[in-house]
Parts: sequence; structure tokens; C-alpha cells
Amino acid sequence: MPVYEYRCNSCGRDSALYYKSYRDYDAATPACPHCGSTDLTRRISTVAIQRPGRDYSKMSSDDMLSVMESGDSRQLGEMMHQLGQDEVVNDPAFSEVTKRLRRGDDPDRIERDLSAQDSDSTGASGGSASAAADTSST
Ligand SMILES: [Zn+2]
Repeated sequence: MPVYEYRCNSCGRDSALYYKSYRDYDAATPACPHCGSTDLTRRISTVAIQRPGRDYSKMSSDDMLSVMESGDSRQLGEMMHQLGQDEVVNDPAFSEVTKRLRRGDDPDRIERDLSAQDSDSTGASGGSASAAADTSST
């Protein structure tokens, strides 16, 4: 059932008018229920106004997947940033990825850079500080 909100230009009061159908709405001449004036200004309903940004924390996993598959790295970065605020993210790589995605970097290149960093840390055996801290190794 369509609901339209109006502000009366005669008495200045707001009113919501209900119609049985959109056809009724087209045929009807809206009149102020308070004073009977037909000098009404249609108001934009509040439900029609969407928030400027998407609330990614309330997205379903399907929605998230579509964001990831869209290839829109800025949107992806924004999503990861929002999600990262909800759950405590300790992984420094995660914040790095988020930062770069928000900057508009290519996700593929970021992934390559990260895997390159991984192989660097395992390949570099000269670091005495990291070797001393690693007591768990047998
Ligand atoms: Zn009125």
C-alpha cells in the first residue's frame, strides 16, 4: 500500500496519505486531512533516503563475495577496513592490505608483494635478532 507524506502549504501540517494502489494515487487529488486544502507539497519519505556509505558489517557473506568479485579495490578496502574495526585484527599484513586497497592499489599486486615478503623473511637467515627470539624451534 503506497504511503505518501505531504506538507500542507495552507496550514503547514504534515500528513501521511494512504492509497490502496498506485493507480489510486495517480487518480487521487491529495487533500490535507486537517484543513482540506489541496495545496500540498510532496515530501520525500525518510525510508527512501539511503545512507551514503554501505554498512559492510551488516553485509551477508554473499554480498561480501560480490564486492570482492567486483574488482572494485576501493570498495573492497573500505569493506575490509570496516570489518577490521569490528573484530580485533592483530595481523599487520591485514592492515597493510586494507591501507593499500583504500588507496586504490591493485589487489593482485598487493598479494604478490605480500607473498614476496613472506619468502623474504624465510629466506633471510642472517637476522640474529629473529633467530635469538625463536626459542620454539628444535
Ligand atoms: Zn492543511
